[in-house]
Amino acid sequence: MLKLAHRTPMVPEDARALVDLLSGHFGIAAPQVRFRVRSYGKAGPLGRYIVLPRERMRPASGAIGYLRVGIVVHEFAHILARLLHGRVEHGLQFVQVLDAVLRVSQPLWEETR
Ligand SMILES: [Zn+2]
Repeated sequence: MLKLAHRTPMVPEDARALVDLLSGHFGIAAPQVRFRVRSYGKAGPLGRYIVLPRERMRPASGAIGYLRVGIVVHEFAHILARLLHGRVEHGLQFVQVLDAVLRVSQPLWEETR
């Protein structure tokens, strides 16, 4: 599911909508979503915002630096993991949170494909 998410392009409006839906589902304050032209994606250190690449991934572009479902879900998982566990790195607890976020989000982003 994670690989599929990283192969699924997104546009910024849908990324913002997905973050809002996920925030509602998990009962947290929605982080602000900021876009940069090229970005690896980033979760703000205090959990209040995430940074995402603005440009939608295209078939020839490769994933890195472009907007796709996988990066939205990943950065949102950082926000949620930080709230639940107080940690922001990529350990087991993060992976478990990421799995939960992926499961919840799949029906939502599959509609945008
Ligand atoms: Zn990360």
